[in-house]
Amino acid sequence: MQRLERADPEIARLITAEHKRQNETLELIASENHVSIPVLKALGSVLTDKYAEGYPSTRWYCGCDTVDSVEQVAIDRAKKLFGADHANVQPHCGTSANLGVYLAAIKPGAKIMGMNLSHGGHLSHGLKINVSGQFYKTACYGVEKETEQLDLDIVRKQVLEEKPDILVAGASAYSRKIDFEAFGNIAKEAGAILLSDIAHIAGLVVTGQHPDPTPHSDFVTTTNHKTLRGPRGGIILCKSKWAKKIDQAIFPGLQGGPMMHSIAAKAVSFHEAMQPEFKTYTAKIISNAKTMASELMDKGWRLVSGGTDNHLMLIDIRSKLPDVTGHDAAIWLATAGIVCNKNAIPFDSRPPVQASGLRFGTPAITTRGLGDDEIKTLIELVDKILMSHGDREIIDQAGKVVAELCKAFPVPNYNM
Ligand SMILES: *Cc1c(COP(=O)(O)O)cnc(C)c1O
Repeated sequence: MQRLERADPEIARLITAEHKRQNETLELIASENHVSIPVLKALGSVLTDKYAEGYPSTRWYCGCDTVDSVEQVAIDRAKKLFGADHANVQPHCGTSANLGVYLAAIKPGAKIMGMNLSHGGHLSHGLKINVSGQFYKTACYGVEKETEQLDLDIVRKQVLEEKPDILVAGASAYSRKIDFEAFGNIAKEAGAILLSDIAHIAGLVVTGQHPDPTPHSDFVTTTNHKTLRGPRGGIILCKSKWAKKIDQAIFPGLQGGPMMHSIAAKAVSFHEAMQPEFKTYTAKIISNAKTMASELMDKGWRLVSGGTDNHLMLIDIRSKLPDVTGHDAAIWLATAGIVCNKNAIPFDSRPPVQASGLRFGTPAITTRGLGDDEIKTLIELVDKILMSHGDREIIDQAGKVVAELCKAFPVPNYNM
């Protein structure tokens, strides 16, 4: 860091500022986490210098012996961690991983069917302005109005009607377990390929805290940087019969040279995820989420679907404040150092930029070590801030308590 400060004080100052921001606020964004120092070390290594187009032992450039070993270790660990036949660790992000699957498995004009974005799906599952919605026909399924949960009997009927070529199971804002086995059966019956996208829940899946999609899916994709707590990036897992096609789809189909520094950091995070402490961590993510959900409901906030089975929850702001938008609520909380995101809720009456929901997740605060007591304190503050309509004095008082919590539970120390 000192060398960077000397060479480029402008960027050094900004990195320090972001470190300070992370350390002095509580991160409730469900898709974020704080990686370990070993992961950061690998990410900031000289591996970034190396061009390695291709795959271990079949590269286009010379000098790849070491990075071949790095990628092979990452692949072997990913296969072991997820129990998969084949792993591709090169996707630059989760969206690229999904596009890689489409490129490998279907032709432009074929049909993708995923979860409705406004019910918790992801833009790479067929949103009109995403590549997935421009090059392919799309259809979607969603949650039921009554339960705000997926009803797999109804999903089955919709899938059989739509006859998609690829069925996508997985979500960004769904607080209940996803029945991948049922999705597998539906896909089989409909003659569709099943892509299970576990970007949000990967850490829970690999530690047995969420049903495993691998045995039921043709492809499993994930990000590395959410509950899995690794560097920003994507991973694809698949059955052997797709191995060659998926590798060709990622390179040369979709990407050029892989980011070897990122692949090394992925490998480090896979190793961490295989340790017993990681299972303790993911169990705590879920128990913290349960505590958070019950504290919120005790205070009269309605949660979409009435609770959570995983690491996140959606709060229906209208349940206590009919006139307040998710947009305003998120800003009030952020001013006090409680960082979350506004989120559309199923059948939302407001446009997504305003939204009637807030999405809360526990992966990052659990990494810092917060437990039941701190979460109770935190939800007290949330309730006070929201009910005051973002009153300046209340926010200031809450901000002081947040600062104390942050001091007691620092983020992994990034002095390197
Ligand atoms: C986060 C997420 C992705 C992709 O994330 P990137 O931002 O492209 O890395 C894909 N699918 C789901 C369900 C996600 O939640």
